[in-house]
Amino acid sequence: MRVLVTGAAGFIGSHLAEALADAGHDVTGLDALTGYYDRSLKRNNVDRLAARGIETVRLDLAADPLGPILDGIEGVYHLAAQPGLSPETDRRAFVRNNVRATERLLDALAGHPQLRAFLFASSSSVYGREATAPEDAALAPVSVYGRTKRRAEAIVRARAEPERWDSCVLRLFSVYGPRERPDKLIPKALRCARRGQAFPLFEGSEHHRRSFTYVGDVVEGLVTALDRFPRCAGEVINLGAPRPPPPHSACWRGWPRWWAGRSASSAGRPGRATSSAPAPALKRPDGFLGLPRPRRSGTALRGRRTGWGGRGSDEECRGCATPPGPRL
Ligand code: NAD
Repeated sequence: MRVLVTGAAGFIGSHLAEALADAGHDVTGLDALTGYYDRSLKRNNVDRLAARGIETVRLDLAADPLGPILDGIEGVYHLAAQPGLSPETDRRAFVRNNVRATERLLDALAGHPQLRAFLFASSSSVYGREATAPEDAALAPVSVYGRTKRRAEAIVRARAEPERWDSCVLRLFSVYGPRERPDKLIPKALRCARRGQAFPLFEGSEHHRRSFTYVGDVVEGLVTALDRFPRCAGEVINLGAPRPPPPHSACWRGWPRWWAGRSASSAGRPGRATSSAPAPALKRPDGFLGLPRPRRSGTALRGRRTGWGGRGSDEECRGCATPPGPRL
């Protein structure tokens, strides 16, 4: 199938483009290479894809003409977005890259003769502070990011209605793994470890629990959704851990404390706990919106529709193994 992946230079999009090519699809990437984080990381991903014969076209979905790149496309994965919850991100960037970009892409796909499947990467942030499954739960996003993703979901579903093609909304939960965005928790913690710096947590973070999903598992779910598209069409599907880490799991409760307590003297010895006093907690900055409380993702629809095997949260936390774990 001829497939377009938007956001192909990004963390998840680059893995997805590779997996689709491995599965035999004819893949084209699209990305604006926005400056949200270091563009050289995105360029590296573009080069990786090029080495696999996958072209990534630099286009801004919110501004550039989109006609030619859509010729003959049969499937679209729409991952391009302004992600994250950082208060430093201008709110207009969320509206521009999550809502306007999605609208423009869908405008360009109206009446498309070959398109069969439009798969949209949404987020568990649409659920809100008490993020819970199942997929038909009321949506109450508390961040600008979550609100713009909810809006984009609604647009996708409304626009698909009169078309010959169908859509599927896939809600992703805290994805981690190689090429992860540098603004996310695990890369930040690893950077601190490498530099021997303490890793300060926001107040209350030691009580915060979250289901993480390995990027390879997410990509497998995304690819499966296209393989089994007749069963996924018109659906909203959570792609995430089926349950949160257990309350006393070292996976989440222990290791942030460990990082928080690391001192310069333990630098270079990852895997060793330090006895130094924990770094003082940071006050949450104004506008730091929407860090959800413990989250888990539903498996009902996902399992039924895609047949994708959910991974247990313990396994999903393999990137943050029990401290002091040598793999860190
Ligand atoms: P990412 O920032 O690495 O990738 C997004 C890509 O979209 C970037 O390369 C960026 O340049 C591109 N982009 C942004 N605006 C664009 C525009 N107007 N035109 C063209 N390209 C544009 O982020 P990611 O973590 O890989 O996330 C991919 C998708 O998955 C996003 O839709 C995100 O909302 C969703 N998601 C991610 C997570 C996660 O934990 N990483 C969780 C839930 C949902």
